[in-house]
Amino acid sequence: MINLVLFGPPGAGKGTQSEKLIKQYGFVHISTGDLFRWHTKNETELGKRVKEIMNSGSLVPDEITIAMLKEELDKNPNAKGFLFDGFPRTVAQAEALDRFMKDNGTAIHHVIALDVTEAEVRSRIAKRRSIENRVDDEEEKLNKRITEYFTKTVHVLPYYEKQGRLKTVQGIGEIEAIFGSICKIIDHK
Ligand code: AMP
Repeated sequence: MINLVLFGPPGAGKGTQSEKLIKQYGFVHISTGDLFRWHTKNETELGKRVKEIMNSGSLVPDEITIAMLKEELDKNPNAKGFLFDGFPRTVAQAEALDRFMKDNGTAIHHVIALDVTEAEVRSRIAKRRSIENRVDDEEEKLNKRITEYFTKTVHVLPYYEKQGRLKTVQGIGEIEAIFGSICKIIDHK
């Protein structure tokens, strides 16, 4: 069983790489962003609690996020491996994830960070904006999410780095080349 965390700011290409990794390795994909969007769309109790927070582009409190993640893990007892996307975003979440993995007799084997600078992400998004028609509201939310990543989420990286689990992959370049670099890490080549 191999468990992986894929890290990177909005616009880094995490979605594209996740899809390819799932196809190649059969990971169970756990994206906390997707899960929160499902809850808000379906107006569950949890969805109602997090809707405003998500709309502002802020992070959902750890307690709620960790409980939701645990539920999702418990739904997949026979998973060959997990690919965590958008989680953890705080050190408390990273510690909880390690505990859950340990309780199941496994661990997070690799934390792969797609290395894309804030300037590059903002320029990609500006390009996208000139093609798509984005409403201001979404723009502002996206700006907030990028800021959240570069001011808060990046602090999770030293947690993994200290333990030698962090692998950085250059996130600028051809999709296939980036995918190849990630596969090399997973395959230990
Ligand atoms: P994402 O699609 O991963 O960027 O997530 C969309 C939104 O869901 C974020 O802007 C947060 O409001 C919330 N969210 C997703 N994952 C987390 C997490 N691990 N911790 C806190 N909030 C999260």
